[in-house]
Amino acid sequence: MITTGFKDKIARLHLAAESWSPQQVLAWAFDAFGDQVAISSAFGAEGMVLIDMAFRVRRDFRLFTIDTEFLFPETYSLMDGIEQRYQIKIERVFSLLSPEEQEHIHGASLWARDADQCCNLRKVEPLRRKLSELDAWITSIRRDQTSFRKSAGKIEWDEKFGLVKVNPIADWTAKQVWEYLREHGVPYNSLHDQNYPSIGCTHCTRAIRPGEDPRAGRWPGLAKTECGLHVIEPVSPTPEAET
Ligand code: SF4
Repeated sequence: MITTGFKDKIARLHLAAESWSPQQVLAWAFDAFGDQVAISSAFGAEGMVLIDMAFRVRRDFRLFTIDTEFLFPETYSLMDGIEQRYQIKIERVFSLLSPEEQEHIHGASLWARDADQCCNLRKVEPLRRKLSELDAWITSIRRDQTSFRKSAGKIEWDEKFGLVKVNPIADWTAKQVWEYLREHGVPYNSLHDQNYPSIGCTHCTRAIRPGEDPRAGRWPGLAKTECGLHVIEPVSPTPEAET
């Protein structure tokens, strides 16, 4: 049961952890939550940094991914490589609806007509279901990726999903990410070498052109920049929200 005292403790750690290295943040999370914490990854460059770091801190860490069943072959190939290199089993979480069931119920190409609903069905609901099993989750978001992420703490209370959220490389730059990958010989998605700095589903990701924002290839043509996993919803000021 989450108490006010526990949330206060997380709030204090939020400040203290600002000066911690990513490895220190990971070690704290593994010590504090044991098997009740897991890394969430879509295996972008940042995610690969985190997986490699975690392996050096605690070899039997938990790793899960939301498999929308619309990922690139290159992403599935990378997942196989991760399981072999780090000797772990990726926990794959799927939508309650297969792609065929989604088309039958909601019509063809839902992502083109209502991307938010498609993301809710294939990403947000599966994530919510997975997080309900955990006390904490670890992500590889960085503050300078999107406006929604700029206030991310390294350790924070996730009001949206009701557990602790740990973001060990929140203050890293893209340059640091790539330096780490090269320095440690970490594998990464081959699409990154084909002008895909950010990789999601095949239907909603394209290569970027010179000068474009690194996330311009996600949901091209739409104002959408996030699938909803890291978007903070407004918190009700009612007393119930304080519990
Ligand atoms: S990224 Fe596109 S295809 Fe993937 S779940 Fe969201 S809307 Fe659907």
